[in-house]
Amino acid sequence: MADPKELYYEKRAKIMIRNLENRHFEACYCATKEEALAKALELIGEGSSVGWGGTLTCTQLGLMDALHAVNYNCLDRDLCKTVEEKEKLQRDIFFADWFITGANGLSLDGQMVNIDGTGNRVAPIVYGPRNILVVAGMNKVEDTLEAAINRARTIAAPMNKQRFPNQTPCEITGTCADCKSEGCICNQILVTRHCRPAGRIKFILIGEDLGM
Ligand code: SF4
Repeated sequence: MADPKELYYEKRAKIMIRNLENRHFEACYCATKEEALAKALELIGEGSSVGWGGTLTCTQLGLMDALHAVNYNCLDRDLCKTVEEKEKLQRDIFFADWFITGANGLSLDGQMVNIDGTGNRVAPIVYGPRNILVVAGMNKVEDTLEAAINRARTIAAPMNKQRFPNQTPCEITGTCADCKSEGCICNQILVTRHCRPAGRIKFILIGEDLGM
């Protein structure tokens, strides 16, 4: 018998895809991250210029490594040598062919939640490249938008904050204290509820637990 979690994710993905398509997103489901990697490379197309924000899910897929290894024009902030270079690249990303991102929370009715510190990740989603690729494990899908926002604020953000030594409450305790610290990473909370123009934002949902 198939793994119960696999069956569960597959069934929820069918509902999710239908609801995403009703909101004019494009969406597909891949059972594994290996399938998802192949699908992402197929969608992006060799030779494209590609930028991304911080996304553990895509790192877990090996997507960035694969893009670097083949003939893609990668706008990779990790290769920038100065702050000025990084700032310029983050603006150049708006004109790339593709922007790749994860999601901090998804609701089963087809909405996406992302939280950001500086806005370099949510801004391109709103009005950046003509193609946005969202790669997300089915562990990100909650039953309601309220639960998806709650997930982003109480799970994804405190977990993500463990990577940055800025002394916010969640970094110390592991729980959100709704802080106003200088190093707060919860400054922009974006809900993407509909896709215009149609098809600009494409989802690859994956039947595995990925990201934060
Ligand atoms: S404590 Fe601050 S930085 Fe941490 S999750 Fe809450 S609002 Fe975000």
